Amino acid sequence: MIPSSLPLRADLRGEEPYGAPQLDVPVCLNVNENPYAPSPEVIDAIVQHVHDISGTLNRYPDREHIELRKALSRYLAQESHVDLPAECLWAANGSNEIMLQLFQAFGGPGTTALGFAPTYSMYPEYARDTFTGWQTVERNDDFTLNRERAVKAIEDIGPSIVLATSPNNPTGTPLSMEDTLELLAACERTQVAGAASGVHPILVVDEAYIEFRSADVPSATTLIAEHPHLAVSRTMSKAFAYAGARLGYLAASQGIIDAVRIVRMPYHLSAVTQAVALAALEHADEQLAQVAHLRQTREETKQWLESLQVHGNPIRVADSQSNFLFFGTFPDREFVFNELLKRGVLIRDVGPTGWLRVCMGTDEEMERFRDAFREVLALL
Ligand code: PMP
Repeated sequence: MIPSSLPLRADLRGEEPYGAPQLDVPVCLNVNENPYAPSPEVIDAIVQHVHDISGTLNRYPDREHIELRKALSRYLAQESHVDLPAECLWAANGSNEIMLQLFQAFGGPGTTALGFAPTYSMYPEYARDTFTGWQTVERNDDFTLNRERAVKAIEDIGPSIVLATSPNNPTGTPLSMEDTLELLAACERTQVAGAASGVHPILVVDEAYIEFRSADVPSATTLIAEHPHLAVSRTMSKAFAYAGARLGYLAASQGIIDAVRIVRMPYHLSAVTQAVALAALEHADEQLAQVAHLRQTREETKQWLESLQVHGNPIRVADSQSNFLFFGTFPDREFVFNELLKRGVLIRDVGPTGWLRVCMGTDEEMERFRDAFREVLALL
């Protein structure tokens, strides 16, 4: 409760803090985490790295986190086959902070950010918090990008930030390379409304779930060398199985990184966070060991859901390249959500009316999800 006597910003009155419920239930499939915990070897490495820096905690950490940026550069070379120097990388406390820094640097009063709905529900909050306008263009019915509408909106609005998500949350839809190139071309020929001549939008591709894609979908990081207005946001929270460590990162031209460096808090990334992230990056293969299995679980769960019906209509499941599935439609999705919860399974009621999102868990968790969902379907 915020007392009305507090001089709260007028546009924040009545707002609630963002966040999915954190409930103590046996099966949590609601925030798109990797369900597999770090291995004993990785735990040992984390303890060792934190031990090694503990004696320096009286000092501020490396503000530029150079070692970590080098390690992220090596990781991208291995994971996305892209050769980017450490100057083109940047890290922060989760990709949420990366995104906020991008909005702080490139948004602000009088500017607009453009996204493609339905999409990640935090985006309007970054916009609100930085006094940036927020506009969306609807995706196609299958949740792919509507390229014509997207390009027209860029040209009509002249946003300073175009925000595309690949794979998208909550739908799981990837952005094709052709779509990314079309968006980039539109940004490169469009003038930002109200800005000096020769100022063009940046395209931010949010690749939070990119490691779950199939091999034939390249990462947008491969385009950075040719496109100085492209910024790719990534995270260790999802496939990398490190949500608790809070480490997001940005790959972009040095110009974009330098702009973000202006707005970051001094020493925003603690020495402990840097050490913990370095430890896990040294064990990237182990951290990613279950990704192929989770992809397979996604495909099997999709087929299973598609074999079911609600009131005689087959369940629709959006094509997904992430670790979650978006499925529907249900005349009363809250009923389905609550009945699953009563059976100890927490999923997410988010996005367009009638749809639900479930993230891939361990085999045992998925079995409990299937058992609970069968029971709930029988009640409809
Ligand atoms: N982008 C997308 C699309 C997400 O779904 C999330 C987390 N739900 C994030 C960014 C933020 O993740 P984090 O701050 O943990 O890196």
